[in-house]
Amino acid sequence: MKYDKNNIFAKILRGEIPCKKIYEDEFVLAFHDVNPQKKVHALVIPKGEYVNLDDFSSKGSEKEIVGLIKGIGIVAKKLGVSEVVNGKGYRSLVNVGENGGQEVPHLHFHIFGGEKIGKMVS
Ligand code: AMP
Repeated sequence: MKYDKNNIFAKILRGEIPCKKIYEDEFVLAFHDVNPQKKVHALVIPKGEYVNLDDFSSKGSEKEIVGLIKGIGIVAKKLGVSEVVNGKGYRSLVNVGENGGQEVPHLHFHIFGGEKIGKMVS
């Protein structure tokens, strides 16, 4: 699985393209989706070069994997969609590859919230 260093999220990570940043730490960057599908639609990406969840789960270090999952929890709280914060929760999903409908080849977790998200798969 070859990583394309010119994908749009790699450019965001390098600061070559702006984003509406929500949170950043050693392991993750989170920002608002440019084309939100719900009232709240954010993306959480690892800082490392991983094409998708298959790539990350096989090659990511334990620190990176923990860092990403922790990052998703932190971002959900910051956005006010965490069940701990609003009692209602949110949906997080990852698209992988062609069948998954993945458009950007850098692993990203979507966070949808702020309203009922609806059917799991349409
Ligand atoms: P996926 O189909 O899972 O690969 O989702 C890619 C997501 O990235 C889509 O929801 C896009 O709207 C979003 N996206 C693409 N370019 C940008 C960008 N420059 N800033 C923020 N979100 C983006």
